[in-house]
Amino acid sequence: MVYLDNAASTKVSKKAANGALYCMLNAYANPSSLHDFGLKSETILNNSRNSIAKILGCKKEEIYFTSGATESINIALIGAARKFKFKRNILTSAVEHSATKNCLEYIKNLGCSITTIYPKDKIYTPKLFVNAIKEDCFLVSIMHVNNENGLLLPVEEIAAQIKSKNENILIHVDAAQSFCKTPINLKNIDLLSASGHKINAPKGVGILFIKSGVKILPLTFGGGQEGGMRPGTQATALIRALEIAAKENYCNLNKNMDHYKTLKETLIYKLKDCEDIIFNFNNMCMPYIVNISLKGIKSQVLMQFLQEKGFLVSSGAACSKHYKNDTLLNLGYSRNIMDSAIRISFGPTNSIIDIENLCENIILANKTLVKYK
Ligand code: PLP
Repeated sequence: MVYLDNAASTKVSKKAANGALYCMLNAYANPSSLHDFGLKSETILNNSRNSIAKILGCKKEEIYFTSGATESINIALIGAARKFKFKRNILTSAVEHSATKNCLEYIKNLGCSITTIYPKDKIYTPKLFVNAIKEDCFLVSIMHVNNENGLLLPVEEIAAQIKSKNENILIHVDAAQSFCKTPINLKNIDLLSASGHKINAPKGVGILFIKSGVKILPLTFGGGQEGGMRPGTQATALIRALEIAAKENYCNLNKNMDHYKTLKETLIYKLKDCEDIIFNFNNMCMPYIVNISLKGIKSQVLMQFLQEKGFLVSSGAACSKHYKNDTLLNLGYSRNIMDSAIRISFGPTNSIIDIENLCENIILANKTLVKYK
């Protein structure tokens, strides 16, 4: 099978898995324990925090380990809203992942007002956000790279322009689809969420960056680990794996990006003459997430057809399997396009031949599957 669903989750790298195994078998003590074994675990934890901080260009005290992006997003958004007593306004995009959307819905029910920004001509410009800032806005939450079609939101520029208007507004970035794939400058960013399993670390580990001086309130209470923001014994093995996978991805960031560009160009070249193909992306979309539709063929039908031919793609965000997800619609694509959309997301081991073969099967699907009117 050719795995092309790397935006949903990734295979754990061998080095990361070995790093985790080493911790489980040799550095299993509680990192808060005062004996030598505890110290060994604590040293590993500190080194991992240091490495992640280096990658992000921040201080190690600004990195908090969590269970994944969903938890980081919840701590950041609810933590900020608690600090502001669930009053005042939050600005966000219309294309956020359900982790942000549903968290903001909860916050809204507790009293905050939410302003949602839709893209113009299928892209986001800083102006769209800056013009919508209300006087009582205390938080802006935006994703860096969209999980459905790879759209890049210019978060650094949005943050800079918002800060120049009101430096007290907190900026949170959901970097689940960009961490170690697309560089980011944290200069004007206060909070950032990311996940391990999108970058070849195991599921169940993530990070939250909280800039020094930014005060948010914790959601859970316990032993005071992670500066009291995320108490509970740290998952040292998973954290060590996250560090290793992050370093591997970050070192190869440019090489991987070039590879993804080649794969995407191959896909476009092979499919451009296919009669019913629709490319659901533009030049603001990152090359590692590609969204396409075949006119008249439902996503599920095409996904199933491709699976039978040996290709695993997605019909949308994996976590929205059980309910309707309007993201593509909100990105500016029609309902028909959305109903036919499949997401192809690349990883470093996908080859040009994989993509050529995939395209041949998409063309075959277009010729053989029965179309709806
Ligand atoms: N944000 C985005 C953009 C995502 O794509 C995902 C996962 O698909 C998440 C948040 C949630 O991440 P996690 O699965 O680590 O909780």
